Amino acid sequence: MSFADLGLIPELLKAVADAGYSEPTPIQRQAIPTVVAGHDVMGGAQTGTGKTAGFTLPLLHRIARHANTSTSPARHQTRALILAPTRELAMQVYESVKTYSKYLPLRSVCIYGGVDIRPQQMELRRGIEVVIATPGRLLDHVEQKSINLSQVEVLVLDEADRMLDMGFIPDIKRILALLPANRQSLLFSATFSDEIKKLADQMLKNPQLIEV
Ligand code: AMP
Repeated sequence: MSFADLGLIPELLKAVADAGYSEPTPIQRQAIPTVVAGHDVMGGAQTGTGKTAGFTLPLLHRIARHANTSTSPARHQTRALILAPTRELAMQVYESVKTYSKYLPLRSVCIYGGVDIRPQQMELRRGIEVVIATPGRLLDHVEQKSINLSQVEVLVLDEADRMLDMGFIPDIKRILALLPANRQSLLFSATFSDEIKKLADQMLKNPQLIEV
């Protein structure tokens, strides 16, 4: 099976070819068509399995279908939100998003705590379609009104079990309350404790279970 068989748009297939990937990994074979079809996903996968491309590629596919090529910030609303537990993980996801979106008119930004908030605010003001964030700093931006989450179409919660271990679940719940109810949501976790299942119940609608 090739990436072209998974139904991705040519801009993404070109970026994947540039990255040197010859065929999708097992999680990508399952996740890409499921996310492209618009389903919510509960995914069990460790890093190193190709999980990041497994959610990033179909996410970009979905929001690129309605991409707006205008340069006006008002035209570039936040349409995809990816939450990661640490700055390092957020940066890794951001690098993947940049790699796979290089032929698309989509802007992305990575926001995390422990650094000056103002440069991030200036970036966000340009209008950004794909925001990769750690939860606490995202809420700081919400409080300062430097981000509007009302147009988010796709939410990804990556490494949910680590979010739980780090005490981020209350922050996640606050963020969920700010998002449109009518959205697509993906939750990835290496393990599925009762608490993760409870969070999944609150966050996902009729999720497809993907495990590798
Ligand atoms: P991840 O599990 O998403 O952190 O990905 C692990 C590594 O695998 C990353 O360095 C990716 O660039 C690489 N990778 C992802 N998908 C593929 C693929 N289909 N073929 C080869 N390498 C891949």
